[in-house]
Amino acid sequence: METNILMEQDKSSILHTYNRFPVALDHGEGVYLYDTEGKKYLDFAAGIAVQALGYADQEYNQALKDQIDKLLHTSNLYYNQPTIEAAKKLCAAAELDRVFFTNSGTEAIEGAIKTAKKYAYEKDGSTDHELIAMNHSFHGRSLGALAVTGNAHYREPFEPLPGIVKFADYNDLNSVKKLVNDKTCAILLETIQGEGGIYPAEQEFLEGIRQICDEKHILLILDEIQCGMGRCGTMFAWQEYGVKPDIMTCAKALGCGVPVGAFVMTEAVADASLKPGDHGTTYGGNPFVGAAVSKVLDIFSERKITEHVKETGAYLEQELERLKSQYPFAAARRGRGLMQGLELRVPVKEVSSRALKQGLLVITAGDNVLRFVPPLVIERKHVDEMIQKLKIVLDSF
Ligand SMILES: *Cc1c(COP(=O)(O)O)cnc(C)c1O
Repeated sequence: METNILMEQDKSSILHTYNRFPVALDHGEGVYLYDTEGKKYLDFAAGIAVQALGYADQEYNQALKDQIDKLLHTSNLYYNQPTIEAAKKLCAAAELDRVFFTNSGTEAIEGAIKTAKKYAYEKDGSTDHELIAMNHSFHGRSLGALAVTGNAHYREPFEPLPGIVKFADYNDLNSVKKLVNDKTCAILLETIQGEGGIYPAEQEFLEGIRQICDEKHILLILDEIQCGMGRCGTMFAWQEYGVKPDIMTCAKALGCGVPVGAFVMTEAVADASLKPGDHGTTYGGNPFVGAAVSKVLDIFSERKITEHVKETGAYLEQELERLKSQYPFAAARRGRGLMQGLELRVPVKEVSSRALKQGLLVITAGDNVLRFVPPLVIERKHVDEMIQKLKIVLDSF
């Protein structure tokens, strides 16, 4: 069907919460997508850092098809083998001990907050604990996740939001120290800020926060929903820093297209926080998503995805640096591995719109950053192709 007809139908039946690109994607193959009119796109967006394996991966698809024919859903009232296997593999990859599977990233954040609050409540029986989160953070759209999202635009219409949350400045350890008190139960941050504009944590900042947490018995929650799952060259971004969280959230590429998230924690936190009856979900971690996560984690280790990201990410970084030096309105490049941002002094929304016309999908972060979060299976030749297309776009400014 023609795109403009679909756009009309969307408008009359789907709530208008997104200003979409004028394209209806139909199918994918490798790192390319095709729209309903047959036009081909090189994908440097990956459905917002989700499609780590690209499209139509036969091994992954077959595992899903097999599980569909076997069993989709049972509820969490019964044991389920695919999800137990997924949990074992995720805990091993995350160097953590217990996992709760959710249906999304925002629910993973909700669960992490509930875990931290319950942990503090178990210790002193009081209910006035505080959280410290970061300015320019993004943790999701449900009310608990909004409460820790440091962006007034997302929050304001929905105030008051639950809990006592204080906001520090990212990469400013003193601003965190000033907010810590006896009521602080957790410090929550993205290891690398995504939506806020691709800002990696500085080594000393992350180490400093870990130290505060250890000294004051505060839990460190790292949101790895976007930067985790191999995107930055290690399975989880914190592993590169060597700063381990007490609770970690994960989603986006965890299911590579199947809606699933998780919050994962140490045994010490698990043993002293959520108990039977404290938390639940009907769908979360059903056999279908369990089979998906399990297969994703197998493929990641069999195909050495993190090593591939280290190499290809370094190349992308080098080529973006080169690009930056060629355009005076390119102000900065930031990021790790295959999570890169290019800060521009021209309207980035317009850049991504013009890129679409060139057959390139690339998205934005914050107000002035072009965001590159391609499938992790991207190769050097795809980086070259992207740069070539992007140059045509940038030359038009
Ligand atoms: C996308 C994202 C979320 C929210 O995940 P949803 O699946 O959209 O609910 C939370 N935190 C970070 C860092 C994200 O990038």
